[in-house]
Amino acid sequence: MNIILLGPPGAGKGTQASRLVSERGMVQLSTGDMLRAAVKAGTPVGLKAKAVMDAGELVSDEIVSALIGEALDKLPPETGVIFDGYPRTAAQAESLDAILAERNRTLDHVIELEVNEDALVERITGRFTCANCGEGYHDSFKQPKVEGTCDVCGGTEFKRRPDDNAETVRTRMAEYRAKTAPILPIYEARSLVSRVDGMADIADVNAAIEGILGAR
Ligand code: ADP
Ligand code: AMP
Repeated sequence: MNIILLGPPGAGKGTQASRLVSERGMVQLSTGDMLRAAVKAGTPVGLKAKAVMDAGELVSDEIVSALIGEALDKLPPETGVIFDGYPRTAAQAESLDAILAERNRTLDHVIELEVNEDALVERITGRFTCANCGEGYHDSFKQPKVEGTCDVCGGTEFKRRPDDNAETVRTRMAEYRAKTAPILPIYEARSLVSRVDGMADIADVNAAIEGILGAR
């Protein structure tokens, strides 16, 4: 099964993807995570992407589509994939069709997380992750069960993204509205889109997504 989680920054795509990874053994492919890894490693892609990401703008379609193709090639063909943060433009949606077809994969669901934009700034500015395993947390909505200790790996160091500030968030939302939301009709025409209330509790959003994906 191959699915896309679609929604503006802070909608909960990463949070829900990580639940599906542990519940269903799917693999999460997040272009944001791949780009952050490239920036950290100082690769040519990372060097090109850093300033664009810091500004909250979109990295080029060619770069992200190449990252997705390379990542898929490392997976066994039967592994289910969750696309998180990709595609973000009509050109990327077109590339994804080609990338999947070349690998005999089909797209099964596009799940749109519907959220109230006013809530997103708070979600994003309160977001932090475990520096060791990447598990996501929030200052108000999802704190570690034991303060200062990651629920998943026991790590004690956490980090915040440099682009998770109120100013950059507004640019990222504008990019979403202008370039990403318009790809929904492409998938609607193919009857692939399901909508989920992303303002519900994390567990309820997960249950709604599980309902859409159906039996394991
Ligand atoms: P995205 O991957 O779409 O940018 P995240 O999954 O990182 O979003 O979620 C953004 C922040 O909001 C995180 O700190 C996460 O813990 C929190 N969060 C995610 N889903 C919910 C929810 N349904 N209710 C409240 N907070 C949430
Ligand atoms: P994310 O982790 O999905 O919030 O992405 C963080 C940043 O990485 C974005 O603001 C963009 O600068 C860049 N990025 C991630 N995915 C894409 C994509 N599919 N297309 C273009 N830029 C992307």
